[in-house]
Amino acid sequence: SKKPRILILGAGYGGMMTASRLSKQLGYNDAEIVLVNKHDYHYQTTWLHEPAAGTLHHDRTRMRIESVIDTNKIKFLKDVVVEIKTAEKKVILESGEMEYDYLVIGLGSEPETFGIPGVEEHAFAIRSVNSVRHIREHIEYKFASYNGSDVKHDEDLTFIVAGAGFTGIEFVGELTERIPELCKEYDIAREKVRIISIEAATTALPGFDPELVEYAMNILEKRGVEFKINTPIKEVTKDGVLLASGEEIKSKTVVWTTGIRGSSVLEKSGFETMRGRIQVEPELRVPGFEDVFVIGDCAIIIDEATNRPFPPTAQIAIQQSSTLAKNIKALVHGSNNLEAFKADIKGTVASLGGKEAIGVVGSKKLFGTPAAAMKKVIDNRYLFLLGGLPLVVKKGKLNIF
Ligand code: FAD
Repeated sequence: SKKPRILILGAGYGGMMTASRLSKQLGYNDAEIVLVNKHDYHYQTTWLHEPAAGTLHHDRTRMRIESVIDTNKIKFLKDVVVEIKTAEKKVILESGEMEYDYLVIGLGSEPETFGIPGVEEHAFAIRSVNSVRHIREHIEYKFASYNGSDVKHDEDLTFIVAGAGFTGIEFVGELTERIPELCKEYDIAREKVRIISIEAATTALPGFDPELVEYAMNILEKRGVEFKINTPIKEVTKDGVLLASGEEIKSKTVVWTTGIRGSSVLEKSGFETMRGRIQVEPELRVPGFEDVFVIGDCAIIIDEATNRPFPPTAQIAIQQSSTLAKNIKALVHGSNNLEAFKADIKGTVASLGGKEAIGVVGSKKLFGTPAAAMKKVIDNRYLFLLGGLPLVVKKGKLNIF
């Protein structure tokens, strides 16, 4: 009989790790594994704040997909997923269509704009290699613009980061490292440059331990970051942001990091979603479907301890890949004995740029250099899981201290 086809959509943390685990766990004759992704490279989303600020080259965050997967067992297809037709068990791609027996949806996320006017048109987002390269070039261009003309525009040197959550804070941290370099290069006094972190909630880094939040804000304030907490943004325009208070802050650079929603392909395909994400069953299947699984940022899983969804993280996506691979392997082998996903949160570390970071590992709070070292260990650990030691040597962060 014909081999069943396992079609994996998206080569992010979830998709890559699922493909890699399945290729190890299934024999050649068990199934055909196809991985579809819009680029021929895989990038580490969790590193993107660095190339966005310009503190790391974007090539360090990406690798050719076919250089890390077992191409004897996984067929890679570079294409864009347009829509999923579950009734016909097929996926519409930009340049064709493909049927599946088992589907894994790992298409990642899109920025959550909360419907705030102007965000899509005027703000930047940290979401892909292409988007962060644009941010880096834009920032540098603004430095060049300021000094390149006789009329000085202060808004060229005002950088607004909307959202002081995990991503926003990590990006601000990198900016505080990069901007002094740009000031030197373009002969601009550091005092001329403003970095403003704007957050609607009552605290920066909501959900983090207050002691860690204070540490992070102190470090960043010492490096010249202005925080505007409890400050909702009403609108983004081509000239800057309008706050709910009525105040306007002029800026030519607004980077939007106020959280994510699931891939718009899901809504378009008629799945029931919450902020674009599908609430999956414990074995990671879409309710009502035998053969459709969701992983990573596209999936919502409720944490029974808090009765709230787990935050969308690479850590969870990677852990889900092992449950998912086991479950698909079981189905392929004719068993219905599926495993429920159990998260094992090891901790969270946020970098603040340079040798500074904060985090919680186990029940231990980490500050400064040990936290920054731990961050690099986490980054390297993923590369090790994906491609073993050779990938760590090639792409890893080896200067731990
Ligand atoms: P992704 O890794 O985003 O991958 C999705 C893939 O799908 C991409 O390759 C994309 O190109 C592809 N794709 C999308 N749409 C299509 C389409 N229509 N057709 C074809 N291909 C498509 N998490 C942590 O655990 N720890 C951290 O320290 C951390 N730091 C972060 C820092 C930043 C700056 C950001 C932005 C996120 C961070 N996260 C962190 C969150 C983490 O990056 C995400 O939760 C994780 O990437 C989700 O994995 P995923 O596989 O669902 O999606």
